[in-house]
Amino acid sequence: PGGIRLQKALAQAGVASRRASEELIAEGRVTVDGQTVKRFGARVDPAKSEIRVDDMRVVTAPDLLYFALNKPRGVVSTMSDPEGRPTLADYAGQTEERLFHVGRLDTETEGLILLTNDGELANRLTHPRYKVVKTYIAKVPGPVPRGVVKRVREGVELEDGPVEVDSFRVVDDEGGVAMVEVRLHEGRKHIVRRLLDSVGHPVTDLARTQVGPIGINTLKVGTMRALTTKEVSELY
Ligand code: URA
Repeated sequence: PGGIRLQKALAQAGVASRRASEELIAEGRVTVDGQTVKRFGARVDPAKSEIRVDDMRVVTAPDLLYFALNKPRGVVSTMSDPEGRPTLADYAGQTEERLFHVGRLDTETEGLILLTNDGELANRLTHPRYKVVKTYIAKVPGPVPRGVVKRVREGVELEDGPVEVDSFRVVDDEGGVAMVEVRLHEGRKHIVRRLLDSVGHPVTDLARTQVGPIGINTLKVGTMRALTTKEVSELY
């Protein structure tokens, strides 16, 4: 028979030990392609079946790759560039696989961009329907008065429609320079720059620090790391 035993697939995916995985199965917490499976001996093909534990997707296929890159300024958000500018591929290391980037950052924006060969996930995360919240830190001329904070929070009207922010706060404001944090769940081009321009605080530096559940944390500019199994399951 093809495939591997379900408990082995769970264990390989790092869900739990083989023994603990058997318990999860017995407790009826595991589904394969939407069906609860309570039999230990059941065989699955991890590359073909969708396995979930407590409705959380288990990432089993060893050939699915997920990375977080801290894109430097000056790098275009594509995998190749006819003009020869630096691209994401220059930072994707030795990975032979074709990787998709999840969304884009302006060339002059630095920060978190996810790379994966999981095209389905890449599409889903960039689809407006899923409202993935992205966090940005922008440097703008200060001081940023309370009235501006209020206006941004209430929703600014741009020429292509209103911008609904999930949160907006001033992180730091002194000596004529302010750092503000904007969280929003849309991806219109230059949205953060246009938003802050419209309230009279043009962005001089912009960085993305978070995409959905994934934070940039201590990842250095120009470096990439693999997402953990836990992070990948949170993305699903
Ligand atoms: N908003 C911008 O203005 N630029 C980006 O790169 C991302 C969001």
